[in-house]
Amino acid sequence: MEPFSGTSLTDHALVSGEVLLSFWQPKALYRWDAGVAISAFLDGLKAGKLLATRCPECRRTLAPPRVFCELCFRPIGDWVELPGAGTINTYSVSYVNWDATRRRTPEVPVVVELDGASPGIGILHLMGEVGTTLEEITGKLRIGAPVQPVWKPAAEREGAITDIRYFRLAEG
Ligand SMILES: [Zn+2]
Repeated sequence: MEPFSGTSLTDHALVSGEVLLSFWQPKALYRWDAGVAISAFLDGLKAGKLLATRCPECRRTLAPPRVFCELCFRPIGDWVELPGAGTINTYSVSYVNWDATRRRTPEVPVVVELDGASPGIGILHLMGEVGTTLEEITGKLRIGAPVQPVWKPAAEREGAITDIRYFRLAEG
């Protein structure tokens, strides 16, 4: 039995005209500015640090950082460094890539609530070192489990969220 139902598109089907294919090259003459808060956050990642900001009014600690509080509308200038560890808020076991192609080995997107940030605040990333089958993965992971980041070596970091390779379950 085939592992997946349906018929996958092939490169041949696309180039031979077997299926309709439209191609458009945008003339995108603009850049996107990350802004003050996210730029500092990305610089922090390159340095192996997870940075957050703290609202002087409601005292929430926001990560990724913002320079104004979306609840109080107060400007925020207080920066804090988070320890990096966190807990699993939720996760998924995905057999589909970003381009809708199928994966034989699943990927595990995770929402990590970061230690030191306010409850419910965290980032979307990937879990690693959790096995390759649904049974292995769901047998290891649970909501609320402590996790820690696995960083790229400093020389390979480029100021991107992928400077953290993935999160793994914390030991102990
Ligand atoms: Zn606030």
